[in-house]
Amino acid sequence: MNFSDLGLSPEVLRAVEEAGYSQPTPIQEKAIPVVLTGRDVMGCAQTGTGKTASFALPMLDILASGRARARMPRALILEPTRELAAQVAEAFAEYGKYRDLQLALLIGGVSMDEQSKQLERGADILIATPGRLLDHVDRGQVMLHGTKMLVIDETDRMLDMGFIPDVQRIVKQLPPLRQTLFFSATLSPEIRALGAEFVHNPKEITVAPPSTTASAVRAAVLFVREEEKREALRRIIAQENVEQAIIFLNRKRDVDILLKSMRKHGFAASAIHGDLAQSVRTETLEKFKAGEVKFLIASDVAARGIDIESLPWVINFDVPFNAEDYVHRIGRTGRAGRSGSAFTLATPDDARNLADIVKLTGKEIPTITIEGIETPAPLTEEEQSGRRRGGRGGRAGSARSSSGRERGGRSGASSGGRREPRARHPAPVEAAPEAPAVAVAAESTAEPKPRAEAAPRADHPRGERNRRRGGGRSEHGERGGERRPPPDRAPSQTPHRGGEPVVPTARPTTQREGTGVPAFSGSPVPAFLLRNPPKR
Ligand code: AMP
Repeated sequence: MNFSDLGLSPEVLRAVEEAGYSQPTPIQEKAIPVVLTGRDVMGCAQTGTGKTASFALPMLDILASGRARARMPRALILEPTRELAAQVAEAFAEYGKYRDLQLALLIGGVSMDEQSKQLERGADILIATPGRLLDHVDRGQVMLHGTKMLVIDETDRMLDMGFIPDVQRIVKQLPPLRQTLFFSATLSPEIRALGAEFVHNPKEITVAPPSTTASAVRAAVLFVREEEKREALRRIIAQENVEQAIIFLNRKRDVDILLKSMRKHGFAASAIHGDLAQSVRTETLEKFKAGEVKFLIASDVAARGIDIESLPWVINFDVPFNAEDYVHRIGRTGRAGRSGSAFTLATPDDARNLADIVKLTGKEIPTITIEGIETPAPLTEEEQSGRRRGGRGGRAGSARSSSGRERGGRSGASSGGRREPRARHPAPVEAAPEAPAVAVAAESTAEPKPRAEAAPRADHPRGERNRRRGGGRSEHGERGGERRPPPDRAPSQTPHRGGEPVVPTARPTTQREGTGVPAFSGSPVPAFLLRNPPKR
């Protein structure tokens, strides 16, 4: 199917063509015609599936006739995070460049006055995070009774972050006769029930998450001792010629430790996590998008939903505690049909969490070894249970030598000592740094505290649920001691091929292509929103 078969206008089709999209993605194919008929949608789709265009393109056509009045937006898009809201605003600006529609973006960390001016000018499309929108509503700077189109995006994350009461308050102010597009990465009974509050006779549309459809993602796991993780990471980067990657960690404090180490070894690395001021996060993201920062060291909450075109590499420095987070993390690569690699460093203790991931994704993850790095065997079920019962009863210190090393016939293979990679591998990166470390952007202390975007609310039932699950996002505190139920399967152990480490064949990593999307240029607000709108 082509975009021209979906019923979109020539103006929107032209912008789509210029965005370089040749074919609609499954969610676009299914959702666009339905949205154009004016029907409500309950969509089950993740970021990375082309979801944004699936609502933005038809909305731009529906809104083409009509004008916004001051402080009365005609369409409202609610996003859980500032980054997502800003990205969606960029997408609307790109797809709507041949439409004379005004956009406004209301996110925390940006002056309320500037946003009020945007509202005063009249916004056809308002993209907002719930907390900041309510601040404007409470001050009477925006009125929602004329808003005839509503998108509630990433509802599962709204729920995670405790924003549903805000969303409910906002929706109460909208007219009942409206079109509502409700999206979530999962449609659990809880989310369905929630959706039923907002939509009327919706068309349900489900598409597979990109990580389960993207066979283009080359995933692998490397078992490694905790203390050798940083060395292993550097070797992966060197041996696989990783030019640019997001590196995920479970804990904020570990993000900072790895950042220091990466910079010490000459990598152009920067960090992004929930404790950093919005201005710093945005600036770092921009530098990463521009290719100035090569390695983005990130925690889950800060990085979920980040949309970077054709990012070829994701490296999990830690196995995430929740299998869902693995899916979100590796969803940063292999987007919209592109190929990518997702390597995971795992300690013997991680076997259980890896098995959970295999269960969720339905895909085995091949195990690899890296020259010069000890490969400890993952703990068995019994050993893990022993640890759970209180003792550190595992095989602490047991290690399986990588056969690559054994074949190399070098002495001291079992001593745990490090070796230089073989000559055919590229030299270790620390020996020949490609780029100087990027200076850390100073954290702004003047940044206003966001109203509700910084952390999930403790009083929300989801917080309770996360505690019960023993999971919880470590960004908001370390995980509780309780472990998850035993897995059905253990991750696969791919044997070495003739003594060589079975690293999936390396393919050349590509430099990110320019997107043509207006840049943020150091401000948390996309540049196009800072310009004065054309006179109508
Ligand atoms: P989203 O799921 O909206 O976050 O989109 C993920 C990425 O896919 C974005 O970088 C979009 O620019 C890109 N994209 C969206 N639709 C298409 C398409 N039909 N063809 C190629 N890329 C697309």
